[in-house]
Amino acid sequence: MFRYEVLIGLEVHMQINTKSKIFCECSTQFGAEANSNICVICTSQPGVIPILNKKAVEGVIKTGLALNFTINRRCTFARKQYFYPDVPKNYQITQFESPLCSNGKLSIIVNEREKIINIERIHLEEDTGKLLHKIGGKKLNYSLLDLNRAGIGLMELVTKPELSSPQEAVEFLRELKNIVEYLDTSECNMEEGKMRCDVNVSVRIVGQKKLGVRVEIKNMNSISGVKDAITYEVQRHKKILNSGARLVQETRFWDAEEKVTKSMRLKENILDYRYFTEPDLVPLYLSNCFIENLYKQLPELPRIKKARFIKNYNLSEYDASYLTSSKMIAEYYEDALSNLDNKNSVTKLLANWISTELSAKLNASKICITKSPISSKNLSKLISLIQNEIISGKIAKIVFEEMYEKSIDPEIIIKKRGFTRISDESVITEICEKAIIESPNAVAEFKIGKKRAIDAIIGLVMKKSKGQADPKLVNKILIKKLN
Ligand code: ADP
Ligand code: MG
Ligand code: ZN
Repeated sequence: MFRYEVLIGLEVHMQINTKSKIFCECSTQFGAEANSNICVICTSQPGVIPILNKKAVEGVIKTGLALNFTINRRCTFARKQYFYPDVPKNYQITQFESPLCSNGKLSIIVNEREKIINIERIHLEEDTGKLLHKIGGKKLNYSLLDLNRAGIGLMELVTKPELSSPQEAVEFLRELKNIVEYLDTSECNMEEGKMRCDVNVSVRIVGQKKLGVRVEIKNMNSISGVKDAITYEVQRHKKILNSGARLVQETRFWDAEEKVTKSMRLKENILDYRYFTEPDLVPLYLSNCFIENLYKQLPELPRIKKARFIKNYNLSEYDASYLTSSKMIAEYYEDALSNLDNKNSVTKLLANWISTELSAKLNASKICITKSPISSKNLSKLISLIQNEIISGKIAKIVFEEMYEKSIDPEIIIKKRGFTRISDESVITEICEKAIIESPNAVAEFKIGKKRAIDAIIGLVMKKSKGQADPKLVNKILIKKLN
């Protein structure tokens, strides 16, 4: 039996976040009625001329700058020829020899170890239309074509084959998605097909120099799918190699229902795209000033933000990681914090409520934090009620549930349900007296020196007061009475 090494390279497509398409003025809006966002250019009518969208170029460059790429000062566009109805003009405009960005890198952390993944290039191209072969699970005996997506600006990022496990591929995609969401250069919404990827996998015997035979799995649209597909493919390769058979280079796809990869086409059938320079678009010359300007527009990126959260807000590594794991969560946290008076003393408490209570609720109901029923403003009100000891932590959890359900201000809930803390001594004394009468055993134990027995009586007082009695006062009054 041999020991094998896995090599994975990813080709990631991300739709660039622009209002209009890359070569025409049609809207990029997702979910519009089929073929409502189209014109003569994106439907490939003969004789039309593409006009490059500057914002799309800017989006690619910003992404490149954030990932340590070299931005090429002169780049060209190319025609990639192939016949398929989703690109009616029979070629796709893309970049071939001189992409916008070359030689970038992304750092990932797997099993607490950092690894730098080199990225070959990011190039700009146009997205294709969408073919529909079935409706609601029912297979059609014809195909429908929707060209709304055709001509939306796409950036394609191609890594070196340096990822060596499904976990590393997952981490790479997560980190990339997070950075690009911070940059806002793509929405990266995988459900809407705004981020998709092709996965190249090969396996070789440890020590062997030559790369193993590669299989490409096309069009993955979820990170968990990528993980499953790689895991499956690596097992398949090892089995074939162990049996002494040979692997063939081919393109496969992931069948998410059967959880297997299936062959699409073999290497012999790989298309010759006959790339040549796009005659309708002049080469692009980028000035230093243009690039420097975009560099200045880069926002604070996740790793830097995380370090700042740890330093400025005194947060743990765990909390800071969670809060910066998406731009939206980080914004929610800082919004909530900005509403609070005594910021320094509540940074951890607030982080905690977000990373535990709120995240559990949002996960369970599959809601993004931007759509949280509890606004950052209302959560900061809840935190300030706890901080000012107006309600106990226990009551706060009950209030939180109701806030989540009804999306309302915690102060309204507290007023309506009479949840404010009882700190009137005479009221508490009365409850303590009742509790003492009802707990003869605990009282007896306390008197023979078992001081912990008082906890049972405190518990009873809290229960009787529905958690509203001020615990410090209860403790003080009980000790006085028992002694
Ligand atoms: P193509 O354009 O045919 O898809 P490329 O050479 O541009 O081929 O490679 C595409 C992707 O495949 C890159 O991400 C690259 O890292 C990856 N790749 C190339 N060879 C291998 C290999 N032997 N094993 C795993 N990945 C590979
Ligand atoms: Mg490829
Ligand atoms: Zn158009």
